[in-house]
Amino acid sequence: MHPSPHPLRLALGLFALALTAAHGPAQTRVAPPAPGESAPAFAEILKIDVHSHIFEDIPELNAMFRRSNVRTINVCNRGADGHLETMHRIALELYRAHPDLFPFTSTFDLTRRDQPGYAGEAIAWLDRTFKNGAVAVKIWKEVGIDLRRPDGAFLLPDDPIFDPIYAHLARRGKPLHAHLAEPIDAWLPLNPKSVHYGYYSSNPEWHLYGKPSYPSHATIIAARDHILEKHPQLVLVGAHLGSLEHDLDGIAQRLDRHPNFHIECAARTRNLTRHPSEKVRAFFLKYQDRIMYGVDMSWKPYLGGQPTAALRQAYVRRLEERYRSDYAFYAGTGEIKYDGRAVQALGLPRRVLEKFYSGNTRRVFKLDAVAPP
Ligand SMILES: [Zn+2]
Repeated sequence: MHPSPHPLRLALGLFALALTAAHGPAQTRVAPPAPGESAPAFAEILKIDVHSHIFEDIPELNAMFRRSNVRTINVCNRGADGHLETMHRIALELYRAHPDLFPFTSTFDLTRRDQPGYAGEAIAWLDRTFKNGAVAVKIWKEVGIDLRRPDGAFLLPDDPIFDPIYAHLARRGKPLHAHLAEPIDAWLPLNPKSVHYGYYSSNPEWHLYGKPSYPSHATIIAARDHILEKHPQLVLVGAHLGSLEHDLDGIAQRLDRHPNFHIECAARTRNLTRHPSEKVRAFFLKYQDRIMYGVDMSWKPYLGGQPTAALRQAYVRRLEERYRSDYAFYAGTGEIKYDGRAVQALGLPRRVLEKFYSGNTRRVFKLDAVAPP
């Protein structure tokens, strides 16, 4: 009988294998922890969810945040649904009640965009939100694939009407949190194997396949990139992997080209689990100062409906499960289950986890100025 290899030797062998497999530049090559080597515990790492829409003070949720070492940035959107005042009032109440848990991102009205003096009004409104503590400004996909210009064309995010607003954000040092375009799947036939199938089969208004009058994915991404070029001092955070969830090389090119571009991964961790894990890992190591964590879970009772205690509890449970399974993917090692599929965890080194989960967000959103660490 052969003696079984010493566990340490086994671990060292895997360490070497991982080193040769990494594709990042030499200085960022770090082997994943060997299976069995422990990642930091879930509650040990501060996790700032840069993208949530929570519009009710729910004690169980706040308790889950504290227990799980989670904070969030609460994002106001949309700009054209008629709830501007209400959502900002609730976001501000939450921030004042729990400043460490709920710093917030404001947004601006889009219904008066064709009126004279529009940009000045939007800027004055945003300045009031900054005075109240808003850390950034959200722009949503309604710009690009829903709202129209007076001439009937789709309003694109690099339209000149927005330039004074972007220039103002750059001057004030407030990031633009930009959910522009959609996953590429919005422009492709419905595919039951896609992670976005559930969304597009139940939200057909955002599924643009077979609707040639809509701008293409490439057109909207080019308009977003054009903002980065026109406003090099504006910090732009691309929500949802900058809507390039299918193309890590395309994200890398833009991060290389635009030092003012950053990304967050809200609702796209599941896309990351579908790329080769070594490639995702190398991407995280190379761009470790440019990526932020987010989830994008919504709780908007102001839109109607009567939330019950049971619904609130289920929401808090789902949210905690999401944080935990994401953490298993980013921090864990070896094969794990993610959304029911077997995937390879990334096993990111602790210093990279800390940047991704909180360091980058604190720096880019200047969080320490508004939220006690
Ligand atoms: Zn969102």
